[in-house]
Amino acid sequence: MEQTGRERVEQGSFIIVLTDAIGHVKYVNSTFTQVTGYTSEEIQGVHLRDLMELSPEQYQAIWEVLTSGRPWEGELSGKKKEGEPYPAFASILPIKDQEGAISHFLMVKEDLSQRRRQEETIRRLAYYDVITNLPSWKLFKDRLNIVLAHAHRNQEMLAIMFLSLQEFKRTVDTLGHALGDRLLKDVASRLTSSLRESDTVAYPGGDEFTLLLLGIAQVRDAVTVAQRVLKILHPSFRVNGHELQVKANIGIALYPNDGEDAQTLLRNADLALRQAAEQGPNTYQFYTPTMNARAFERIALENSLNRALERGEFRIYYQPQVDLHTGQIVGVEALVRWQHPDLGLISPMRFIPLAEETDFIIPLSEWILRTACGQIKAWQEAGFPPLRVTVNLSARHFMHKDLIKMTDKILTETGLDPHCLVLELTESTIMQSAGMAPKTLRKLKERGVLLSIDDFGTGYSSLSYLKRFSIDALKIDQSFVRDLPVDQDDVAITAAIIAIAQTLNLKVIAEGVETQEQLSVLRSYRCDEIQGYYFSRPMSAEAITQLLQEGRRLTLGEGPPVK
Ligand code: C2E
Ligand code: MG
Ligand code: MG
Repeated sequence: MEQTGRERVEQGSFIIVLTDAIGHVKYVNSTFTQVTGYTSEEIQGVHLRDLMELSPEQYQAIWEVLTSGRPWEGELSGKKKEGEPYPAFASILPIKDQEGAISHFLMVKEDLSQRRRQEETIRRLAYYDVITNLPSWKLFKDRLNIVLAHAHRNQEMLAIMFLSLQEFKRTVDTLGHALGDRLLKDVASRLTSSLRESDTVAYPGGDEFTLLLLGIAQVRDAVTVAQRVLKILHPSFRVNGHELQVKANIGIALYPNDGEDAQTLLRNADLALRQAAEQGPNTYQFYTPTMNARAFERIALENSLNRALERGEFRIYYQPQVDLHTGQIVGVEALVRWQHPDLGLISPMRFIPLAEETDFIIPLSEWILRTACGQIKAWQEAGFPPLRVTVNLSARHFMHKDLIKMTDKILTETGLDPHCLVLELTESTIMQSAGMAPKTLRKLKERGVLLSIDDFGTGYSSLSYLKRFSIDALKIDQSFVRDLPVDQDDVAITAAIIAIAQTLNLKVIAEGVETQEQLSVLRSYRCDEIQGYYFSRPMSAEAITQLLQEGRRLTLGEGPPVK
């Protein structure tokens, strides 16, 4: 911010000295007395020459300029009362009387030591983060370059670690920035305390910390440090009476294995971090070369994802859900696919997570919901028995403020009976949005929309929310169905999930049913419905129409054996 001259004088950054025509001091301002230690009385009559550290030649040169009536400007060293020098920038101006003769000299000096201090502060600000007091990104990179040169000469190994705090942004959003800052500070000091003096912990900003570790003799050493760091962050943080649990991920790149220069190492540590984050909380991951290939693919996908909707590249496939008592198709699950012009049919497992990371998931989800509701309505109008449609709801969409409005609008537009719409959420979606989940779920229920839990048993499996949120159906995850009936644990889990559903009066659907054997186990435990390749793969709307026209149903044989 630019200061006005007046402000600068009042803040005292200028020294003002007025002398007579010969150079004897007549007046000094308070900055002068502060800087030099002279009182204004003591300084009276002292010669200008004695206030500066100048050689006789230098003094002579300045004096010649001044006595010729011209101003002089330049950097010179001032002298304090005790003789100590201070750097200053001086402007000396001859002041003339009415006859044009020099009557006074006015010297305005800027005490550069203050400016130097400011420069030092600015430098510190650039090099250190104010919240955590840790080196900034800039300093981290500077150090990395220096250390790399050293490591190169001495053939040493280095480890660069990127550490990110999961859900930090959410903590800040709910608890406020002040607490967020406190938490960062505490995290910073735990990190510093867990490393050696020679290591560097930096805070580039956001929820990320970067670590530079020296003296790594083998890969194992980096593992030890990563484990130690995760461990030290494990005990909860007490911040203003809040108990905060911190979950972190670490990505590691090693010099020289994973890169020779700073840029490559930093990029690879970042890639490793992303990979670690995908693996769940409190994990670390070393860089591997395949991460690069995946990063490229990811960027390519991200770029074309945005245009895919306008270009009409998404398709919805429908997978029938069959009632195990009647063998009839009672519903379908809408599963999105991306018909990529170059890459072919892309699985939602690959692009939904990408879309989730950006706002793109919202228009995409809206399109899926509208298309699926419209399709079911079309089948109803064509005279087929009423089907339900299950639409997967991504976490981000579920938490979106306009979800209810959007659902209302689509139901009105398509004219679909809300009882025919099942919204499917995963347990983790409900848990992630714990704060707003009850309200949103209640509003959906008020409209008559049904709710189903996907992948039941793989997540938190908190039974309390099933009742509290009036969930209508549970889906037994494929991973339990896959090894039926061979894996006894899976048999037990499946039986338990079905029993839970029956106790709570929920419908239970098994997904990923591929074989007759799996089907038999599920029937024996009185599972309500199944979905899977055994009956049908997910298919285009046209193919489903054909199936409905044929009146295809599951042949159940002699009926479920009773347990
Ligand atoms: P999900 O909701 O659990 O869907 C079931 C997945 O299992 C589908 O994979 C389906 O094609 C597959 N599947 C069905 N029967 C069998 C079987 O018998 N054996 C095996 N091995 N697999 C079977 P898909 O379509 O690739 O979808 C994967 C996941 O992507 C879904 O898991 C869901 O989480 C997500 N997804 C799919 N469509 C959407 C969508 O429209 N919106 C959102 N937000 N997510 C979607
Ligand atoms: Mg699903
Ligand atoms: Mg599932």
